[in-house]
Amino acid sequence: MPKGKIVKAISGFYYVQYEGGLVQCRGRGIFRQKKITPLVGDYVDFEYRDKREGYILAIEERDNQLTRPPIANVDQAIIVTSVKEPDLSLNLLDKFLVLVESKAIEPLLFFTKMDLLTDQEAVLIKEKLAYYKKIGYTVEFLSTKDKEVNHQLSVYLNNKVSVFAGQSGVGKTSILNRIIPGLQLETDDISESLGRGKHTTRHMELIPFEQGLIADTPGFSALDFKEIDLEELPGCFPEFVNLQDQCKFRGCMHIKEPKCAVKDALDHKEILEDRYKNYLQFVEEIKNRKPRY
Ligand code: GDP
Ligand code: ZN
Repeated sequence: MPKGKIVKAISGFYYVQYEGGLVQCRGRGIFRQKKITPLVGDYVDFEYRDKREGYILAIEERDNQLTRPPIANVDQAIIVTSVKEPDLSLNLLDKFLVLVESKAIEPLLFFTKMDLLTDQEAVLIKEKLAYYKKIGYTVEFLSTKDKEVNHQLSVYLNNKVSVFAGQSGVGKTSILNRIIPGLQLETDDISESLGRGKHTTRHMELIPFEQGLIADTPGFSALDFKEIDLEELPGCFPEFVNLQDQCKFRGCMHIKEPKCAVKDALDHKEILEDRYKNYLQFVEEIKNRKPRY
């Protein structure tokens, strides 16, 4: 039985890429019974009569899945943050990082709109954000106005399935339009001048780029911690994870426990204070959320 990968979904049709090309498929009823919907990114078994009439028969177990955009088996999420307009928010950035970390997807940090800063401002921002490099993240500064930006970014997108995420207005669409020739998604200026919101189509596609695949829909931009449990939260901060074995208590939440290696590191300014404050705020947010039922 042929196997392939769903690379596109449009209103009930799934396009499966396999060594013989692309087949338009529908899901068989079994999925509805099991309440599993095929997702772009899924590896599937399928059968087909011809390239326009195929059926998905089974879905392989997923490494991970996102609901916005609906996609499975993502390798990396590119968290886009603007340094200006909207102003840099480490709180939002840390929140995106937590959500991506909680799904075991690798985050990459792209900072946009560098062209709006003076040289001096750029130096200061880079100094501040060096912390994220120090704790192991890939950090890239860019301007989508820069014509060479596709070359600058291509190295990160090779051989991976990538999805873009970030607050609205930071430049996700602009990056996608730069790196995927012919895509021409509507950016804010265009959708405003046409008097309509962006992303109204029910369409989701993985577009090939540099031997990798990119989700053509700018991903989640609004955030909440609905799916994250309190105990999971410290594990979403890699610099805490590195230290947790040195805390006196197993399962230390690094808040009020004695002999906590994270608090020690904080006192020694090895942990960015703003980020630790964000952590405490997220703890409260999770504690105070309404129960699901
Ligand atoms: P999205 O909501 O994250 O997809 O953001 P858009 O790509 O729609 O961009 C929002 C606005 O910011 C648009 O007016 C873009 O032209 C502008 N923009 C995006 N990237 C940059 C950048 O690097 N520099 C500047 N100056 N403007 C940018
Ligand atoms: Zn601790």
